[in-house]
Amino acid sequence: MTWAHLSMEQRRAAGLRGALVKAERYRATIRERFWARVAPENENGCRLWVGNFFTTGYGDFAWKGRSTGAHRVAWMLERGEIPAGKLICHHCDVKGCVNPDHLYVGSALDNSRDAHQRNRVRPPKGEQHSAAKLTAAAVVEIRRRAATESTASLAREFGAGWATVRDVIAGRTWKSVRP
Ligand SMILES: [Zn+2]
Repeated sequence: MTWAHLSMEQRRAAGLRGALVKAERYRATIRERFWARVAPENENGCRLWVGNFFTTGYGDFAWKGRSTGAHRVAWMLERGEIPAGKLICHHCDVKGCVNPDHLYVGSALDNSRDAHQRNRVRPPKGEQHSAAKLTAAAVVEIRRRAATESTASLAREFGAGWATVRDVIAGRTWKSVRP
């Protein structure tokens, strides 16, 4: 249903009820158009965008005349405003997913931290290592040097993922190894 499809009476009534009603109507119309471009839940509970995409892998939807990330639109339609400067992040790590239940409001830091945790961010070329298993000796060494060296440089040197080294330093993994 679009504005053009409304009868004169409906238009007058909507006009009288003011901008709030108009905004609500716009939202309802957009919601319909939006969810028409989304696949039903897949086996992971993801609802995948089937419309246009940005080259970044996120869905692309016109929101108030602006090309906007489909996951952001899903949030605004179903959950409300996105606080200024905040991102809509994916619990499921599927960029094309617009299931509001799989989304959360986060900062750029949350987003990159999550990406690292899931190894979505690859180290720059030439710094790639196979996911070598750390040894107990390496764990001790990493923890000793963590006070003065960055997680990234230790990860490079020991041929481990950034998140792996971070967890070692934080003591979340290799709990049995004491310095
Ligand atoms: Zn999902």
